[in-house]
Amino acid sequence: MKGSDERARRRWREAENLMHILEAKSTRLADGLEAEGLIQQEASQTPTTMLPAVARGHRGWFHPCARLSVRMSSTGIDRKGILAERVAVVTGSTSGIGFAIARRLAQDGAHVVISSRKQQNVDRAAAQLQREGLSVAGIVCHVGKAEDRERLVATALEHCGGVDFLVCCAGVNPLVGSTLGTSEQIWDKILNVNVKSPALLLSQLLPYMEKRKGAVTLVSSIAAYFPRMELGVYNVSKTALLALTRTLALELAPKDIRVNCLVPGVIKTDFSKVDWGAGGLCRSRVLPVLSRCQLHHRGEHRSGRLLLSALRGVGVAVQLRSQAQEPEGVSR
Ligand code: NAP
Repeated sequence: MKGSDERARRRWREAENLMHILEAKSTRLADGLEAEGLIQQEASQTPTTMLPAVARGHRGWFHPCARLSVRMSSTGIDRKGILAERVAVVTGSTSGIGFAIARRLAQDGAHVVISSRKQQNVDRAAAQLQREGLSVAGIVCHVGKAEDRERLVATALEHCGGVDFLVCCAGVNPLVGSTLGTSEQIWDKILNVNVKSPALLLSQLLPYMEKRKGAVTLVSSIAAYFPRMELGVYNVSKTALLALTRTLALELAPKDIRVNCLVPGVIKTDFSKVDWGAGGLCRSRVLPVLSRCQLHHRGEHRSGRLLLSALRGVGVAVQLRSQAQEPEGVSR
């Protein structure tokens, strides 16, 4: 009993230390981005407002070996070409967070396939990125439709010859209301787009990603950890994505494919309009990345690295470099 108390205290101290490091780094990062004019911090809010809360919410969850690092938004020259010859497929990428991720991956040298439901949005976003000299192809893909996913895969293979990274950003919240008041149709829509589609798309891409030891990033939400009353089923779907991330990370580790999850706070986009001015869930502009990947390669665990880099223009990404754990350590 005494031993387990001591272990619990030690884990708590380690988690606190980690959060201090993360908080300090995030503050420096946010200050840097503010200086570059990429974000504005509100006077009454620091970008790290929510981090201690996150730490409290997850004590015992952090693994002592997990090393965290924060990457600054690119200065261009030093980061140019780091993803040269790599191919990224980003869903829901014609605006908001997905667009920023697509742009950044392309700025880092990747060929990027962007997509969303509406042709005019795809055309506009692709044209904008191409004008910036980036290597981008666009295709219509409603992630909830099997035929659209097939077309997306075919386009990536045809234009780019393979896929290294999949970022699943498309997400919906068609109803702002209570969970029990939600119709079956709306349940199906939210779970279909937010939870099922990333797994189904990945299963279609897997044969090609396997050859290239790729990486997958799912986009959850802070609502997964701090559900908000009005968001109902959306909260449920984003929590399910965390479970999906952990499960896929385990299943794909032997194939050397990393799976991570991005957990944004509230970011000013069309999607989150409802949060602004209404005392939103969290006004922090820091995006804590709270998931880790586990790699299992030829019988050995080793560390992995999240593919995402900073999300220029919409906020800050915390890059997480995880260290592998023993399989039983996954029960977090
Ligand atoms: P956004 O600015 O509204 O952009 C959404 C993008 O997804 C658009 O390109 C949209 O284009 C596309 N899209 C919507 N439904 C789609 C579907 N069924 N299939 C394919 N593409 C679809 O939204 P955002 O704020 O960037 O949000 C992106 C993701 O971040 C979502 O998963 C959301 O849950 C998550 N998130 C956002 C926030 C936030 O505060 N903004 C916070 C936490 C998590 P079309 O209309 O052309 O389809």
